[in-house]
Amino acid sequence: MENRIDLHMHSTASDGTLTPEELVRFAYEDNGVTVMALTDHDTVSGLQKAADAARRFPIRFIPGIELSCNWAGSTIHVVGLGVNPRDDGLQAVIRKHSLLRTQRAVLMAQRFDALGIHDIYADAVGMARNKDNVSRSHFARALVARGDVPNVQVAFDKYLAAGAAAFIPSGWVALAEAIALLKHAGAVTVLAHPGRYRMKELWQIEALVKAFKTSGGEAMEVVSGSQGSSYTSHCLNWAIENHLYASSGSDFHSLSGSRPRPGAQGELPHNAPSVLTLLSQ
Ligand code: AMP
Ligand code: MN
Ligand code: MN
Ligand code: MN
Repeated sequence: MENRIDLHMHSTASDGTLTPEELVRFAYEDNGVTVMALTDHDTVSGLQKAADAARRFPIRFIPGIELSCNWAGSTIHVVGLGVNPRDDGLQAVIRKHSLLRTQRAVLMAQRFDALGIHDIYADAVGMARNKDNVSRSHFARALVARGDVPNVQVAFDKYLAAGAAAFIPSGWVALAEAIALLKHAGAVTVLAHPGRYRMKELWQIEALVKAFKTSGGEAMEVVSGSQGSSYTSHCLNWAIENHLYASSGSDFHSLSGSRPRPGAQGELPHNAPSVLTLLSQ
């Protein structure tokens, strides 16, 4: 268990449950991750603390972000690796998405109210360590804490997943805009977990991968803790066909979650062109 790579993880800056410092320590000391990226949803606020913590270990730390965006009516996630957190365009989209998250939280709370689940807004915001980054995950944890649902999965299935009773779609930036913004901020763009979107048919995912490439995208996650391992060979084929580099990440959020521990998502296939070659300098 050493020299593992994990290019997709979350902290309390978004919907993870470990602080950036705790995450870096846990990934290195308990899981042997030596190349790691912090990729919180729509925020870079954890990056400085994570980078400072990483300096205490023999780790290569890559600053990242996981940007929410829209394509063909679905929310898609694009990871930016090696991002400059001070880029003006990036700061602007982060502010926009923060406002959208708060607006969406208000609308979701109104839905819950109509469903007989009252006063959930303050509880959900209370679950968020970063009050500028309220997530559906925080609503899920609030519902579990109140005893309204037995676990987070039921919270998503019943209320929070796309199309469920309290789901409110969000006006995230478009896929092409997300890619352009991230590239302008110096990041290598990575299509996150292609196998976990609402589009379950392979032809839909193929169309997404093509659109990502056409829009200037550079890499995709071939191995991800957020998609079944059966997607690995499909993703490798799509990466090669579309001349995209390959990335690998656990999408770790919390110790109690269903996803693998940091670095435990599995290795990239040997013939996969690693995204790290774009990041090494
Ligand atoms: P948001 O960005 O606020 O819309 O929240 C999306 C987050 O919710 C994802 O990053 C996951 O961490 C979590 N999530 C989405 N769907 C599920 C699900 N079915 N079960 C558990 N967590 C989920
Ligand atoms: Mn998440
Ligand atoms: Mn994601
Ligand atoms: Mn993620």
